[in-house]
Amino acid sequence: MIKAIVGANWGDEGKGKITDMLAEEADIIVRFQGGANAGHTIVNNYGKFALHTLPSGVFYNHTTSIIGNGVALNIPVLFKELQDVVSKGVPMPKLLVSDRAQMVMPYHILFDQYEEERLAGKSFGSTKSGIAPFYSDKYAKTGFQVQELFDEAALKEKLKSVCTVKNVLLEHLYHKPVLDTEEIFKELMEYKKMVEPFVCDTSLFLWNAIKEGKQILLEGQLGTLKDTDHGIYPMVTSSSTLAAYGAIGAGVPPYEIKEIVTVSKAYSSAVGAGAFVSEIFGEEADELRRRGGDGGEYGATTGRPRRMGWYDCVASKYGCRLQGTTQVAFTVLDVLGYLEEIPVCVGYEIDGKITTEFPTTTQLEKAKPILKVLPGWKSDIRGIKNYEELPENCRKYVEFIEKQIGFPITMVSNGPGRDDIIYRNR
Ligand code: GDP
Repeated sequence: MIKAIVGANWGDEGKGKITDMLAEEADIIVRFQGGANAGHTIVNNYGKFALHTLPSGVFYNHTTSIIGNGVALNIPVLFKELQDVVSKGVPMPKLLVSDRAQMVMPYHILFDQYEEERLAGKSFGSTKSGIAPFYSDKYAKTGFQVQELFDEAALKEKLKSVCTVKNVLLEHLYHKPVLDTEEIFKELMEYKKMVEPFVCDTSLFLWNAIKEGKQILLEGQLGTLKDTDHGIYPMVTSSSTLAAYGAIGAGVPPYEIKEIVTVSKAYSSAVGAGAFVSEIFGEEADELRRRGGDGGEYGATTGRPRRMGWYDCVASKYGCRLQGTTQVAFTVLDVLGYLEEIPVCVGYEIDGKITTEFPTTTQLEKAKPILKVLPGWKSDIRGIKNYEELPENCRKYVEFIEKQIGFPITMVSNGPGRDDIIYRNR
């Protein structure tokens, strides 16, 4: 059985914590898209970790972690993370890397930086991890799969051809030093040494696992609103963040994905540029940012302060619909305990018309939030295990949002730890 864990919003919804928690009952956890540009923060018995590439199941002995073919694989980053978790006492994870996963090349990171510099004030707010140049090359068929490391002659030849094109851009558009093919080749041979013990046909491994009745989790990165097709294009990421893409990025039959757990945070946060209708500013935003998540809402990869906002029912309803949600995990609810009143965005006003359907980017830029103010519960809900024990106003907040988005909230997360979870309707 395959279960996907994905985000409804702009990412940073707390997917890492939910995956880490659900991984206890899983056999295999698969990353199927994205790269080291975003991260999950996980707090467990071993300490606090920021994972960018490793799946969130690496902390269990009984699970196998897979880097699927859909991932933008930065090999040195993967190995640094592996060393980091092992050095903090976590047993060496069982890790498999798809032979068809493509590699983030050293020049992808350079091109990401140079392009952001060129765009200056109009930049996308990229994390400069090379993701956009990586996926551009993948679909232009000039990318490199891991398996290509094992045919050195062919690799050298292809590298020369690819670098010829890159060098024209470097010299004439960006005015930067050109690439040295020999140097890159040497670096790739280092990558080969690092990755070799883990490489295999992961889709075949998963096929056999499905037949044996294993429990498989697909772990998404970012959320619906950052999806290349259905997100706030062009302020999106360069790979699909949807559960449906899990079938492609892991190489499994789409009909095997039986459950889709969509994670949505009790308030909003976003990184990078783009319209953010329920955004708040000033002291109100600073306070929520300071109190948010576990130790503040700052990027797990970049440390940048996140943009903050109230919960957006319009965006979340859309986010859940596009994911194909079967259940919602509603996270970080404990953080809102300080508020007297909690505004929630229930509609958008665009050119004088009110809508609850999430529009295209051009319309979104013009949208103003329609806010409904709900009463706060003014108490600390951490440690509560049963839904009925939550303060009445807190339950009302959950149920109001559930009704607005139209998908069942089956889990409420009231703290960063594995056990800080309240199940509903069980
Ligand atoms: P992800 O990329 O979707 O996994 O999200 P992040 O890791 O960026 O953000 C989630 C942050 O919130 C992390 O610091 C988590 O430890 C923390 N977190 C997750 N769930 C909860 C929760 O229910 N309450 C609190 N206070 N923090 C949480």
